[in-house]
Amino acid sequence: MSKNISLFLFIVYCLCAKISVASHLDNVLKKDTITYRAQVWVEKEDLVRYGGEEIFKKNLEEMFAHTTSFWNDTPNKFNYYFRFVPSGLKIYDNQGDQDNYDKNIKEASGILDTIKFDFVVFFALNAKNNGMWCSSGKSRQAVVACFKTFEEQRKNGDIFSKRPPEHGVYGDLGHEFGHFRGATDIYQYMIKAKDNPINHIDLTPPQSIMRYAQDRVWDEYCSALFNYTAQQKQMEKDLNRKVFPDKLRIKVLVKGKTKKNVTVKFYGTRAGGEKNNRDVYPKAFRTFSTDKVGHVDIPNVYKLYHVDHDDIGIPPKDEFPYRYWFSFLVEAEYKGEKKYIWIPDWQTQITKLKGGNIHEAVIEFK
Ligand SMILES: [Zn+2]
Repeated sequence: MSKNISLFLFIVYCLCAKISVASHLDNVLKKDTITYRAQVWVEKEDLVRYGGEEIFKKNLEEMFAHTTSFWNDTPNKFNYYFRFVPSGLKIYDNQGDQDNYDKNIKEASGILDTIKFDFVVFFALNAKNNGMWCSSGKSRQAVVACFKTFEEQRKNGDIFSKRPPEHGVYGDLGHEFGHFRGATDIYQYMIKAKDNPINHIDLTPPQSIMRYAQDRVWDEYCSALFNYTAQQKQMEKDLNRKVFPDKLRIKVLVKGKTKKNVTVKFYGTRAGGEKNNRDVYPKAFRTFSTDKVGHVDIPNVYKLYHVDHDDIGIPPKDEFPYRYWFSFLVEAEYKGEKKYIWIPDWQTQITKLKGGNIHEAVIEFK
């Protein structure tokens, strides 16, 4: 990196830091704070290596404070200030065997005292593999897991070592806490042009912490979702269904006027698996024709994305990870010309989360 660029970035960083302090104050002053309390699980021997209970707790407080800032001080449309706190340490025992992490995380996913805690964060700090993920437990509590090998900690420092502005575990926790609040992984929506046999263009989702933690911005979908689920300390049972609007409407316009009898095809995008990349499935899942007012109206939007076993037009079982369409590439064809729009599930959900029940999308021929 050239010196000039370094200097420029340094100045930009300083400006951002200033803005971030201002927006932090803004957030605290104007918005109601919602606090999510974590029961934090740590292994007995791991805790000794991290300097014992007192030091670990202090570092934990600091790390959660960084995650809270990371959440709220990045650009967002939050109606609340979301605060994450460690609310109690649960020291577990692997009895000197790394294989016992699995047994203990199973226990951490059991019944949770939801009077005291809202969710669980589980640390495995002498694990065989690295990984972070979020799953759900018996009390519908989120269980955020952080597995780190010795090697990784030797190379990159312990879980507390990297502080803002450097990216660290606090930021990765920020992504996982996004799952805790109900969000999906936005990187599942990225399709490369070579994996799109229909119109051969990249499909690029917006920047979001749910795409990469390093994006350092919350997209519109996450903001709307976190506002909607703000008061749910454990997610409601049928949240997955409730976030979809009742109806999806495609309007086709030709020179500004709605057009009937235009063919509209839906191509689904799927997650990557053993047999396929993350791609646009080459066969149309549904084919419609615009009605007399130039609309395609599709009821039960939830079912459109969550297909049935016996649905027509879906890939074979072993070529369809999660059996879920993440997005549709929608094609309208008029007088030999084809136009495309992309409708990821989360786009329809924004409509619902903001109080609408019909998600409208327009395809225009000029
Ligand atoms: Zn994720």
